[in-house]
Amino acid sequence: MTSSPQTTKPPAEPASHEPRLLVSEERVLSTLEADGSRRWLKPRLSPGRFLTRRRFVAYGLIALFTLLPYIHINGKPAILLDVINREFTFFGLTFAPTETVLLALLMVSILVSVFLLTALFGRVWCGWACPQTVYMEYVYRPIERLFEGTTGRGGTAKHAVAGWRRVARIIVYAVISFYLAHTFLAYFVGVANLRQWIFGSPFDHPVAFLVVMAVTGLMMFDFVYFREQLCIVACPYGRLQSVLLDRFSLIVGYDRKRGEPRGKKKSDDTGDCIDCKMCVITCPTGIDIRDGLQLECIGCAQCIDACDTVMDKIDRPRGLIRYSSQAAMEDGDRRVVRPRVVLYPAILAIVLTLLAAKLATREAAQVHIMKMHNNAAQFVVNDGLITNRLLIEITNRTETERVYAVSVVDEPRVTARMTEQPMTVGGGEMKETGLIIDAEPGVFSDGYAVITLRITDGNRFDQQIQRKILGPFNTGATP
Ligand code: SF4
Ligand code: SF4
Repeated sequence: MTSSPQTTKPPAEPASHEPRLLVSEERVLSTLEADGSRRWLKPRLSPGRFLTRRRFVAYGLIALFTLLPYIHINGKPAILLDVINREFTFFGLTFAPTETVLLALLMVSILVSVFLLTALFGRVWCGWACPQTVYMEYVYRPIERLFEGTTGRGGTAKHAVAGWRRVARIIVYAVISFYLAHTFLAYFVGVANLRQWIFGSPFDHPVAFLVVMAVTGLMMFDFVYFREQLCIVACPYGRLQSVLLDRFSLIVGYDRKRGEPRGKKKSDDTGDCIDCKMCVITCPTGIDIRDGLQLECIGCAQCIDACDTVMDKIDRPRGLIRYSSQAAMEDGDRRVVRPRVVLYPAILAIVLTLLAAKLATREAAQVHIMKMHNNAAQFVVNDGLITNRLLIEITNRTETERVYAVSVVDEPRVTARMTEQPMTVGGGEMKETGLIIDAEPGVFSDGYAVITLRITDGNRFDQQIQRKILGPFNTGATP
């Protein structure tokens, strides 16, 4: 896979007092002119079968992104990334950050799925489903075309654009970005909180307000200025393509055998490419697909639609540019099965099995017993009893409210209770409270004793935890 090697116009000859630039023979980056200035792209829209299909997918995904925070499963939003309370909910399952094995298995399964999808279908994510592409090409770019006009045959604006039109576009962009930033925030705080905050003063919720403003600002920066550069230079997934793809992966490719030698005039000596450059003008990342597979290609298929239209006009079969693989185009080798498409599913099957087993054997609650946050004395003597003050954190992993109680197992000389006993914890929620353990001095040996605590909700959850408590030395403890 190469970086876009298009030739470029040399910069104007510098004045004698200016330092001379080393002129590159090829375009270094599709978004840079030879003198290092920004090459602004205004891709021409190419209607066709793939554009129509991508539109359906894109608007479906936009609807999904907008509606997901409103959809509730088991009383919780379908996706809620509650960073403040350290809870992550995905389609009815709530994970605590302490469930590291589960979270790690989930992450590995997502990662391997991405590897597998890329090995099979190339950059289908980039061209069809990535939020950057979806919002750029189906929200922001259409608005730009509405206000500033479409792009002509030569890849430049058809008409000069009035200043007010540019301003109006930016205002509409800002309103949409502001709305999207709220939707984005809903994934972290839930729609109920968001609704309350929208109608309240920003001073009551300054952090949320600042997050919305920052996200709005970042979206404006991206969709007004940065644009395709995000895919070309910033996205790590884009950078990884050269290792994730192989010669048999699905790509958008130009059939060199059929197209070359290209020529404006058709004759028996020329291929099917008439060098009209419609595939270049329409490319949202500004590359020429005829130069071969390039890192900048996001697989959006706009060049396929553009070229198919040309082929229809010159009465040649469609598909000079098409979805295929490097091996199929060069050697006719359409192999599907190869080591990586066997290895990835095998790893995925193992990881998903482990994940399913871990979920099936998951306790209905998670309990943590900790020292006090403020480094307070670990125990005090109180009415002849030794009192240990600890903290207990209970995460209710069920969907319904549960009531928990703590007791001591097989040691009548020790009692344990929570500050709030019994303690009610809502479905999928986590609560922390004090844990007070009173013990007779005779329990301790060498300054400590090990006791067994029982935490139960009187229903599905019943767990015993051993805990060391501290006390005085040399108490003459009985065994
Ligand atoms: S659109 Fe097709 S015919 Fe025109 S330059 Fe591109 S590949 Fe050649
Ligand atoms: S080369 Fe074709 S598929 Fe790749 S980004 Fe450009 S228009 Fe899209």
